[in-house]
Amino acid sequence: LRAEVLNLTDVLADLRMLLTRLVGNEVKLSIDHGRDLWQINADIGQLEQVIVNLAANARDAMPDGGEILIRTRNVPAEETPAFGYRELPSIDYALIEFEDTGSGIPQDVKEKIFEPFFTTKDVGKGTGLGLSTVYGIIKQSGGSIFCDSEVGKGTVFRIFLPRYVPKV
Ligand code: ADP
Ligand code: MG
Repeated sequence: LRAEVLNLTDVLADLRMLLTRLVGNEVKLSIDHGRDLWQINADIGQLEQVIVNLAANARDAMPDGGEILIRTRNVPAEETPAFGYRELPSIDYALIEFEDTGSGIPQDVKEKIFEPFFTTKDVGKGTGLGLSTVYGIIKQSGGSIFCDSEVGKGTVFRIFLPRYVPKV
């Protein structure tokens, strides 16, 4: 694990070709970069794993095609949202969102998606390790991940990563 100072805009730009290929021709992939995105402190390889896992899941949720929108923006401390019982500390974040127009996730499934080896996919199509890995990486980076989904409409994953502020 090697944490370095990164900008999500650059990381996504470098992954764009790979992601486009990963999602295939039936899925339209858009990346909407926030302006002057704050830097974060993370391991580049792990961050790429997070992005690729979320894109692969979105693709799998859209066997007949659809759209994936990846959005980034800054969320200042005073705008930190409240997420029910899970606390998100009020600090500055760089936010990355993955939105898809796929199957959506039923509530009973949603409760288990971050558990290791939980999968709804056929044998050979999923290991159930994607989101548990994502969860571990985000936790380790001091961030938080949230899932919002509506069956038949789609899913949004939001990842809040603490802003990196250089010490003077
Ligand atoms: P895997 O992809 O190997 O099944 P993951 O840990 O990546 O394992 O995901 C666990 C489960 O969460 C999936 O099997 C699927 O049921 C659900 N899931 C994850 N992302 C999405 C998504 N974008 N849309 C619908 N379901 C999803
Ligand atoms: Mg997966």
